[in-house]
Amino acid sequence: MGIDQTSGSNPVDMSEADAANELMRLAKQIAHHDRLYHAEDTPEITDPEYDALVRRNAALEAAFPHLVRNDSPSKKVGHVIASSPLSKVSHEVRMMSLDNAFSREEVMDWVARMRRFLSLPDDEPMAITAEDKIDGLSCSLRYEDGKLVRAATRGDGQVGEDVTANVQHIADIPKMLRSRAPAVFEVRGEVYMEKQAFAALNAAQQEAGGKLFANPRNAAAGSLRQKDANVTAQRPLRFWAHGWGAVSELPGDTQHDVVRQIAEWGFPVSPLFDVCNGVEDLLAHYARIGAARPDLPYEIDGVVYKVDRLDWQQRLGFVAKAPRWALAHKFPAERAETTLETIDIQVGRTGKLTPVGRLAPVLVGGVTVTNVTLHNRDEIARLGVRPGDRVVVQRAGDVIPQVVDNLTRDVDRTPYLFPDHCPECGSEAVAEEGEVDVRCTGGLICPAQRTERLKHFVSRKALDIDGLGEKTIDQFFALGWLESPADIFRLKNRRTDILALDGWQEKSVDNLLASIEAKRAPDAARLLFGLGIRHVGEVTARDLMKNFHQLPVLRVTAERAHVADEEASADLLSIDGVGGTVVEALGDFFHEPHNVAVWEDLLSEVSPPPYVIETLDSPVAGKTVVFTGKLETMSRDEAKAQAERLGAKAAGSVSAKTDLLVAGPGAGSKLKKAAELGIEVIDEAGWAEIVAAAG
Ligand SMILES: [Zn+2]
Repeated sequence: MGIDQTSGSNPVDMSEADAANELMRLAKQIAHHDRLYHAEDTPEITDPEYDALVRRNAALEAAFPHLVRNDSPSKKVGHVIASSPLSKVSHEVRMMSLDNAFSREEVMDWVARMRRFLSLPDDEPMAITAEDKIDGLSCSLRYEDGKLVRAATRGDGQVGEDVTANVQHIADIPKMLRSRAPAVFEVRGEVYMEKQAFAALNAAQQEAGGKLFANPRNAAAGSLRQKDANVTAQRPLRFWAHGWGAVSELPGDTQHDVVRQIAEWGFPVSPLFDVCNGVEDLLAHYARIGAARPDLPYEIDGVVYKVDRLDWQQRLGFVAKAPRWALAHKFPAERAETTLETIDIQVGRTGKLTPVGRLAPVLVGGVTVTNVTLHNRDEIARLGVRPGDRVVVQRAGDVIPQVVDNLTRDVDRTPYLFPDHCPECGSEAVAEEGEVDVRCTGGLICPAQRTERLKHFVSRKALDIDGLGEKTIDQFFALGWLESPADIFRLKNRRTDILALDGWQEKSVDNLLASIEAKRAPDAARLLFGLGIRHVGEVTARDLMKNFHQLPVLRVTAERAHVADEEASADLLSIDGVGGTVVEALGDFFHEPHNVAVWEDLLSEVSPPPYVIETLDSPVAGKTVVFTGKLETMSRDEAKAQAERLGAKAAGSVSAKTDLLVAGPGAGSKLKKAAELGIEVIDEAGWAEIVAAAG
């Protein structure tokens, strides 16, 4: 897991889903590197790279406070430092890492660079070895006069851990080399666990209530690095060799000669090892290994290339921690085959039925996958999937895994019937003409839609009620306390009831009720968006309110448009970004008596002030403002809304078009850039003065 996933998108410009995804990825990555660094002494990234991950996490959390995860790295109070029980070993020859390539172009560049470096004539062939890159734990085994004297993990490349006693229990590692060997020879390779052995180990661990391993690599590392070598002995570890460290003499002039000799001494080596000539040959072997990958008994994550001639390796030497003469060509998307066990239907806020595939757990690129999205009815038809089918699952980067192929498509069985009734409320479920999504028609009688709507109503871009999370809504709904949005404002009458629930204290209840009370006079556009009317997103809600200012006026206009009042329709359609679908959706919503009852009930609890955009008196009207760093007294969304009210445009990045930068603590590159461009910079207090002065 490298840092290649660190996206540079400005948090302000990101969608909630993207931010949540990235936060998930960061939590995983940072935990991974913490473990490597503190528990296993095997960091894969430099300290500045690690710091960049932590900073990125903090920036995203600042922009999306409600997305802070329970397992967020920012919540960890110091690291748990597992002081290693194993003693340290210095490597006589440093254990290197490899540079990565992801595309054929990068491989071609690498070969061309080496040829230039060595000034090879065009007709001079350059043999390069290629073998699958197993995802294991690097290990160096030192043999003196053919006898195993020490085994060490990679550690930081210079200093590793002594695992000599542990590797005695790995059958693939010979204690004595089979034939005559140099006085000193260090064999290097990977300790790993096969997929099946990993699954069996986790099953046994689960049975025994023990720790579960995230992937075979972790399982191998955890099993090898045991103080008690008897524990290692219980674990089905394997080893294969792919190189060497300190040697008194080399038994060959090429990579493949030496690897062959290592195999003759009794070590397993890659069965897919090959010597290639030229880039096309390399890429063809890469494709072959990729094709064989799903059927291999172990996890691999790419193909390793090495210049075959050792004198050329010598000349090419190293850059930083990696050799110039080797390259790891990684596989792009991870795929695996498994069984689709069932198809569950989830009902969303708008009644949309989303099919979710439940899989027999399968490792895809080192991550156990149990769920995939099947998107909609058409996608299921396209794939022809039914429960029980064998499917190919793909995980690209860290996006939600998806089914890319159905291996049992042609088997003659009854096709999957997409439900025509809502699994939550039993109402009819239909797809409107021209739409792919099937929706429950139950509307507000559908419990799934009702809870999802409540969740939407309190979400960050709608009413933004702190402390009223999804679980709380589900719980209060189940207790019958929350039927509609207005009930949220009546929760103050249930203070004692809430206190009686598990997990609530005086302070948390008071905080919740206070954050609800703080929204009695909500922003009208947020309230409108919070209603969850189809096709009325955040931006449309604001555009509508800019024109109608008062919600009752909008409602009357929408109702009139619904009964074909030309003037009312024209009023709505004249708004930039509002089209026929929006007009129709608004009309449908306010035409439905139940919605009107919910709406009137809500307005008996809250009073949104008229939505007015004052732009004339503001010194920032017509200007472009950028916010950066942490804002202490308001959210980023609120600051942007203020800017908009003042007639300014809030942008995500600093450019020559920026007029003003509002910088809070922790401002970094944007502040620097603003200084370079001579852009005016103020702090949050300065911004508050502008807002206050504009009234
Ligand atoms: Zn329903």
